[in-house]
Amino acid sequence: MINRRNFILGSAFTSLTSLLGFKRAEISKRTLISAEASPLVISTWNHGLPANEAAWGVIKNGGKAIDAVETGVKVPEADPESNSVGYGGYPDRDGKVTLDACIMDETGNCGSVSFLQHIKHPISVARKVMEDTPHVMLSGAGALEFALQKGFKKDDLLTDKARAAWKRWLEKSEYKPIVNRKNHDTIGLLAIDQKGDISGACTTSGLSWKLHGRVGDSPIIGAGMFADNEVGGAVATGMGEAVMKTLGSFLIVELMRGGMTPQRACEEAVGRIAARQDYKSFQIGYLAINKSGEHGAFAIHKGFSYALHQGGENKMHNAKYLIE
Ligand code: ASP
Repeated sequence: MINRRNFILGSAFTSLTSLLGFKRAEISKRTLISAEASPLVISTWNHGLPANEAAWGVIKNGGKAIDAVETGVKVPEADPESNSVGYGGYPDRDGKVTLDACIMDETGNCGSVSFLQHIKHPISVARKVMEDTPHVMLSGAGALEFALQKGFKKDDLLTDKARAAWKRWLEKSEYKPIVNRKNHDTIGLLAIDQKGDISGACTTSGLSWKLHGRVGDSPIIGAGMFADNEVGGAVATGMGEAVMKTLGSFLIVELMRGGMTPQRACEEAVGRIAARQDYKSFQIGYLAINKSGEHGAFAIHKGFSYALHQGGENKMHNAKYLIE
């Protein structure tokens, strides 16, 4: 029987949830789905395959999604052949390798570092910011000082190969956003663990030859990555400025909260960029997952690929796109 107190509570709940775009039925449906969610790891570009493998190692042993995402992205961070992430990343136009990274757990807690130099694993520094400080983001010299205090080692991240590429670029010093790159780019990685919990991580050396001091979307919670354990998660790669102007990852998660599939939400987020920006000259790729383990991917141009580890397979896939 509905008494007055329950009725008032009930209607307050209804108006609050409808204000947020929810319906009660949808909430209980989600709760049901979450109990059945199948574990997965998904990440951007070819370097996603070994990253997924490492992340999956954590998940298959019953580990937490937050540990899986950190473990996963550390693989390309340490790989000198990955030219857009960590060690071996291409420098800015002054020849300095500057790194951006962020991480978010299933409770909505998050940490990030931006414009960090000399540290091979910015994602682990971001995690320390999340766990050991009351802050979300540390930047530049302060982030480096914090990392050193936490016991991280100072490294020279500019490899001979990256230095040679920078020297070649210096001959013309032309900065043009590159529509597509092969085999390297920011890594954004999302995971669902065996409990059904979702976490995400994103780490990059940013756009090659950028202005010294430039920070992209990757360390910005809600731009380069966002995860909400009730709904799902999203990551971005490509021209960071376009993602920042539309807060792409947060947008995708909110669209999924409103009922869109991950695929539709990624398409809509690309559409928001296309509606207002000179989108043909740059690339954006979005990846998203929802609580039930469905995923979506969409890019402006052909060529965005991602790695998905689910159902016993770790495989590359090509994302759908807006224009050839
Ligand atoms: N999103 C990164 C940035 O703008 C670049 C990338 O994904 O390659 O810094």
